[in-house]
This record gives sequence, C-alpha cells and structure tokens, in this order.
Amino acid sequence: MNQHIRLNLREAGCPFCRTHPNRNALFRLRYSETLRPSPEVEDFEGWVEECIQCGIYIINPRYDETEFEKIYNHLSRKGKGSTTVKSLAGHPLRFAMVGWHSPNSLRRIAARLIGKVLDPVLHIPITSVPMRGKNVLDVGCGDGFHLRCYGKLGCALYGTEIHSGYIPFLEKGPETIRYWVEEFSKIDWEKETGWGTFDLILFQSVFYRLNNPREALDLSWRLLKPGGAILRIEPFFPNIDAAKFMTRFNFPQGYCYISNIEQYCNKLSEIIPGAQFSWDIIYGRSRKMATGKELTLWTAALDIIERLSKNMIGSEPWYIRLEIKKPK
Ligand SMILES: [Zn+2]
Repeated sequence: MNQHIRLNLREAGCPFCRTHPNRNALFRLRYSETLRPSPEVEDFEGWVEECIQCGIYIINPRYDETEFEKIYNHLSRKGKGSTTVKSLAGHPLRFAMVGWHSPNSLRRIAARLIGKVLDPVLHIPITSVPMRGKNVLDVGCGDGFHLRCYGKLGCALYGTEIHSGYIPFLEKGPETIRYWVEEFSKIDWEKETGWGTFDLILFQSVFYRLNNPREALDLSWRLLKPGGAILRIEPFFPNIDAAKFMTRFNFPQGYCYISNIEQYCNKLSEIIPGAQFSWDIIYGRSRKMATGKELTLWTAALDIIERLSKNMIGSEPWYIRLEIKKPK
C-alpha cells in the first residue's frame, strides 16, 4: 500500500493563504532516504514547494495518517532512548516553566538561564501570558507531559489527542486533565467549552502537521480569551538547506514549515487583524536525527550534546517559538 495525499497546489493553492505557490518544485527527493524506521512503508518521490506569499515550505505529496501511524507505532515500540530522555527532561522543564512565572525574581532569573541553555532539547513552551490559575489547552497533548507542568501553576488543564494509546497516561493523576480523543477541528467547541475560554492554546510540534492549518488558526483564535495567546513551537526552515535537512534526515511528519517568519506574520496579521506577534528562534539543530533502531540512550546523549553546543554559539536554527496574542 502506498497511500499519500497529493495536494493539487495549482488548483487549490497554498493550504495556508490559498494563493498559488510562486515557484515550482524546489527540489525532488526520495523519501526512501528517510524511511529506515519502517520497512512497511513504501518509497515514493516527494518534492518541496515554497509559497513566498506567506513564507512557508510545503511538502508534497505527504503521507496520509494511516501510513504515519505505522511509523509512529514502530517508533514508540523502539523508542527507549526517547522515553528515557523524556523522563530526564521532565524535571528541568518543570523548573524552567514554573520558575518563569514565579513571583520570586531570583528563581525567575535561574529558571530563564536554565531554560535558555536547555531550550534546544526541551523546547520550553514559555509565554508572555501570566499563567497562574489560568485555562490552558494543549492541542495534540500526547501523554500530558507539558500540560502537567502548567498543572504546577494551578492551571485548569485541557487536551486533545488523536492517539487513543495515550488515554491511560491522561487518566493518571495527580493533576486532572479534561481531554478529547479527537482531532482538534472536529470537536464541537461551542458545546464543549464555549468560545473565549482559554488563556493559552499550545501547539507543541503540532501546528505544522495539521491537515487544515487555516481552519485550526481561525478556531483557536475564537477559543482564546482577550489577553490570551496561541503558542506554537515547531521546526523552522529559514533556507533551502534546512528544508533539505528535514526531508532527507527526518521523516517529514508535517507539510507546512515556516521559512520566512516576518512574511508569515504579515500574512497572519491579514488573516487575524489585531493579533500581536512575537517569536524567538531556538538554535541547536543536530547533524542528523536518530530514528527507530538507531535511537539508543547513547545516540540520544550525543544528540543532546551536539544541540546544546550549537545553541551556545547560535550556529543553526532548528525550532521557532511563535506567540500570537489576542489584545485585551
Ligand atoms: Zn501561502
């Protein structure tokens, strides 16, 4: 089986701004180069296009979700290194996030310093919104890893997740998470929570993978309270080299990658007038992503060292943290 979704960009236009991409294929690549994790998925040729109207790279064609599921399941079976790193990462992540919102200024400074150093590993979802006791929704919340950090700040926790395998983790305490095992855009929000409910809506490595990013943006904007923010953390590809890196060395899980952040925010301000933007670039791209069998504690440790050292000298961008704030 070789199912993938071929976007007809010539007819449908860019999935975000809906104009037609200004360039033809930037380059072709064989995704087989990236598919060592799963022999079950067949090879096919892919290419990357750029929409310079909104500053994104579009991966085309892309796998549909059933194909992605196979790889996902494979990785979670093999992903011992990843699990270990995650449990090790929990403590500094909580420290950085809780400290960020601490009334104690010494603790705040320490948390920011630790956060700055560990950012390429932790991708810390810090926000300018004061978060104590607020409502936070994590779209694609997984096992609730990030939500529970906000739990330490006394927030009410809400999550959506398409993988039912995460339910036991979401059910487990001590914090209570209200969750929906459903795609974000398929939930009847008006009935479930009502509009204008959330102070923070988090897309941690999620937004660029969504089938309909435009719809998700409109929906999350309506769900925000005035003064609230949408926080997105996702890969950032400021040049073609970075796009090649992502598609060749990592299975392209998403299909809309920000390539020009200023251009992208200009486009966003047309789509959602009044929104305020801020972003920062997370440095520390690793030479190559470890996948499947290669993902051991040893390779994970090497990867972390490599990313931290690149972060120190700011040599290669890897992720972007973008906050879209709704005025009060
Ligand atoms: Zn576009």
